[in-house]
Amino acid sequence: MQFRFHTFGELETILHTEKIAAPEYGIKREAFMTGVPEARILPEIDRRIAVTRDALIKGLESPQFSRSGLTKGAAAAFASSKRRLIRDELFTRSLAYALAINEVNACGGKVVSFPTAGSSGIVPGVIWAWWDTRENRAAEGAVGRVHPCNPPYAPRLRDAFIVASLAGVIIAQSATLAGSEGGCQAECGAAGAMAACALGYLEEQPLGACFSAAALSLKNSLGLACDPVAGLVEVPCVKRNAFVAANALTAVDLTLSSIESIIPFDEVVWAMKQIGDTLPVSIKENSTGGLAITPTGLAFKQALER
Ligand code: SF4
Repeated sequence: MQFRFHTFGELETILHTEKIAAPEYGIKREAFMTGVPEARILPEIDRRIAVTRDALIKGLESPQFSRSGLTKGAAAAFASSKRRLIRDELFTRSLAYALAINEVNACGGKVVSFPTAGSSGIVPGVIWAWWDTRENRAAEGAVGRVHPCNPPYAPRLRDAFIVASLAGVIIAQSATLAGSEGGCQAECGAAGAMAACALGYLEEQPLGACFSAAALSLKNSLGLACDPVAGLVEVPCVKRNAFVAANALTAVDLTLSSIESIIPFDEVVWAMKQIGDTLPVSIKENSTGGLAITPTGLAFKQALER
C-alpha cells in the first residue's frame, strides 16, 4: 500500500485503489511511518485525545492566567457569560473549547500540538464541541461544566481526529505547518482546514465534501500574519483559535448546503505555499512586525524584559 501522498487527489486515488476508508488508512499509515505496530496506534491516539479533553476541562474550570498578563481566563469568562449574540450550543461550545485548550497551552499546560501548539485548540475544540452537543448526553447543561470523557473512545470520535490529521499531512507535505515559514495561515489556517474536515466527517459528508469544507476554511485564512506579541504564543494566538473554529463551522455549514469551494483543496494549499513564500519575514513569527510592534505590543515586551 502506498503511504506517501502530497495532495488530496493522490489520497483519493490510494483510498479508491485500495478500497479502504480514510480513518482505517490513516491508522495503517501511522503504523508504517512510525514503525509502531498497528495494535498500539489506537491506544496512543486515544491517549492523545484524552489530553485534549483534560486541557479543555482545565481551561474552562480553572481560569488560566499567564505570567505575561496576556492570557486572562477568556475561556472561563466566555463560557459563563449570560450575554450572547449567537445562541447556538455548538457554536458557543466550539469557541469556548478552542479558547480553553489554547489558554492551557499559553500557560504552559499540556496540550496536543494538532497541528501546532499555537493552534492546538481549534481541531479538538470543534470536535469535542460537536460530540458534546450531538452525542454526549452527559455533557448537557452549562457550557463551562464539562465532564471527563475517558478512553477507549467511540470509533466515530476517534476517526474524526484521524481524518483531520490526513488534511494536516497534505498541508505539511505540500506547504508547511510552521508559522515561521508560512505565517499563521500555516498554523491556525491549517488547523481550521483540519477542523472543517473533521466536522464534515462527523456530519457524514463524503470525503470530497469534507475537503471542500477544508478548502473553504483555509481560503479564509490565506495571508494571515504571525506576529505574536513579545514573542509569546498568546496574542493573537489564543483568541484566533476561537475565530478560526468559527471559520471551520461556517465552512461546513456552507458545504452542507451543497456550496462547494470553487478552488479545490489542493490548489488552495498551493496558493497558501505561494503566499507564505512571499510574506515579509517580519510577520513570520519573529515578532518584528504587525501586532508585535504596536505601542501596546511593545509595552508588554518591555514590561516583560524589566
Ligand atoms: S500567530 Fe504565530 S505563534 Fe500565534 S498561532 Fe499563529 S502562527 Fe502560531
